[in-house]
Amino acid sequence: MQISAQISRFHGTERPFEIREVPVIVTPEDTLVRVSLATICGSDLHTVSGRRDAPTPCVLGHEAVGTIAAPTQHRSVTGELLREGDRVTWSLMASCGTCAYCTDRHLPQKCDRLFKYGHARSEGATTLSGGFATHILLRPGTAIYHIPDALTDKAVVPINCALATVVNGLKTIGTYPNEAAVIHGAGMLGIYAACYLRKQAYDIVAVVDINEARLQTAKRFGATHTFNPAKLSVGEIDEALKALTNGRGTDLGVEVSGVTSGLPSLIAWSAVGGRCLTLGYVYPNAHISVDADHLVRKCVTLRGVHNYHYIALGDSLRFIEESRGHYPFDSLIGETYGLGDINAAFAAAKRRDALRIAIAPSL
Ligand SMILES: [Zn+2]
Ligand SMILES: [Zn+2]
Repeated sequence: MQISAQISRFHGTERPFEIREVPVIVTPEDTLVRVSLATICGSDLHTVSGRRDAPTPCVLGHEAVGTIAAPTQHRSVTGELLREGDRVTWSLMASCGTCAYCTDRHLPQKCDRLFKYGHARSEGATTLSGGFATHILLRPGTAIYHIPDALTDKAVVPINCALATVVNGLKTIGTYPNEAAVIHGAGMLGIYAACYLRKQAYDIVAVVDINEARLQTAKRFGATHTFNPAKLSVGEIDEALKALTNGRGTDLGVEVSGVTSGLPSLIAWSAVGGRCLTLGYVYPNAHISVDADHLVRKCVTLRGVHNYHYIALGDSLRFIEESRGHYPFDSLIGETYGLGDINAAFAAAKRRDALRIAIAPSL
């Protein structure tokens, strides 16, 4: 059977996306997925604005869910058969499973032969390599997970980038019950970090952002306190955090804003022996200036983490399933556009009124 797919191609900053029809060629090694829903991530916006490079033409989009669209020999991470029609999510990268990063170093996201969806030049075997298309071809070395029936596409679609990155980072730096955390940035990662930390029995989860609407969302997703640095100085927020922690400061700081003032603030607010995790600086030349005296005298642990080990995607699915009664995950997705309206979808995403704008390629 000859199938064709529609893809959207990014040709560079300030140039409109092009929609084109391409034949689908499935080899036995690949798994063909029909994309049900994809969302525009902050890093897609960085690419479109020129803040980070992408090979062109490129099918962008890596936060996506879909259904298996052709017979495949591949199995899910948990060993189950993948049948046509099964709803799935997948790791945003494929890795070899044998290099030093994949094995000893437990960093498959840094594999010597890494392939990242939504970041490759769209040609030949990588024509269908992004989520903003009707179909995507998943390569060997991609971790594929079945989506539980109880979960909607909207609740799951951003997790294979945003939530899995948060879960992986927090597992790496460690979380401990009854600690106090402060999250710098109330975008998608910050919102996920707030509710995830509450699930880990954090007493204080403070969220800092200059956007009041996002702070309100953070409150719906578990934030116990919110602070707006457009209204309060770093020193005033420090006083407030110390008042909440018997003068101690925060045990855990999470930087997810990507703003260069974020990490220095988290170090200033840190308790003695505190830990700071940074996930947000994913663009070149993100230079920051910190008072290293604070870092040393307070014995602060600083940890950068990029992307995730695919096991964190399974943890993320479980978290969404267990927490869906507490938090309205569907509400994090704003308007949904058809693939033909991808230019309008990106214009809406750039306005940043909603945390995520979605594209449903079959609309
Ligand atoms: Zn992303
Ligand atoms: Zn590898």
